[in-house]
Amino acid sequence: MRIARKARSRRRHARRTRHRRRARSIRRTDKRGSVRKAAALASPANLPKSCADNPDPLAVARVVTIDTSHGATFGGVQYKDTGLLKDKEVVLTFDDGPMPSRTLPILKALEAECTTAVFFSVGRMAAEYPHIIRQALALGHTVGTHTWSHANLRRLSKAGAARQIERGFAAVAAAARQPIAPFFRFPYLAAPKVMETYLRGRKIGIFSIDIDSRDWRGYSPAHMVRWIMARLKERGKAILLFHDIKPNTARMVPYLLRALKTGGYRVVHLVPKTTYRPPEADRAFAARFMARRHGGRASPAGEARASEGESAARARRASVTKARRHRKHRRARHSRQRAELERPVWNGPEISSN
Ligand SMILES: [Zn+2]
Repeated sequence: MRIARKARSRRRHARRTRHRRRARSIRRTDKRGSVRKAAALASPANLPKSCADNPDPLAVARVVTIDTSHGATFGGVQYKDTGLLKDKEVVLTFDDGPMPSRTLPILKALEAECTTAVFFSVGRMAAEYPHIIRQALALGHTVGTHTWSHANLRRLSKAGAARQIERGFAAVAAAARQPIAPFFRFPYLAAPKVMETYLRGRKIGIFSIDIDSRDWRGYSPAHMVRWIMARLKERGKAILLFHDIKPNTARMVPYLLRALKTGGYRVVHLVPKTTYRPPEADRAFAARFMARRHGGRASPAGEARASEGESAARARRASVTKARRHRKHRRARHSRQRAELERPVWNGPEISSN
């Protein structure tokens, strides 16, 4: 038993060391090469500050109105090319947000280049930070959804998956205080056939991707810019996927936008022909959730907070405490489950092959 445990801990240690060594080597390469190369792409001082002061912005080359009345699918990773983009054209898309510390700098970087993107926001996140959704819309971006809580729809029943989709739309629309685009992206790009049919029936467009920026891997901004530009060179045109919940994505976007401009790429902005109205029950759910989160107000920021009553503040504090307690219990449960999983079935000494 003890020997097995020791062997396991040795293996774990080796795994961690390998991981650390690899991370160090990536950092070292960046220090030597790619950071300097990114500096050659654009130095921080040369990054534009705002659209008005930008003499040569990336801008929007073309606006395409998307008609989803018979459903629609885009993105070469999963669907066939519909001729949406011409050579050297890109669509910028951001998933999983909004998150203030990431989405706001991204909105600023896009504004500084006078350009726009499509945000596939997670319903629960939008309900948490509704003012960011409204800011994105005010800046001319298109907002769709990415389910209520980023569930893998392959793992749900049809009814469960439909609820995730509808609540996603309902929550983002409640945050926006207006109906949003009938634009949807599957979390993990996990698209069950039955849900593709469902979305077509609901007149919702499905957006897959052409190039994954791999920003979830934690590479440096410089590394990401080089990697994306290399993929773009191969493909020529692309719907690009980013995540506005990753710190390095927020750091990388200003450099990437400059690199796109220098590389002669053009941004295509997608706007919907119609907006989407989720079922009444899901809209009521989103409204209830928003009311609970923000004490009956749909904005946690600015004037709402200033005029907030004592009792609402108290209620919020109580809910935070409750959430904290809930998280603690969940962590304890997970560690118990992990311990259970790691418990060896074979209790004798470790059998070695050599
Ligand atoms: Zn996602």
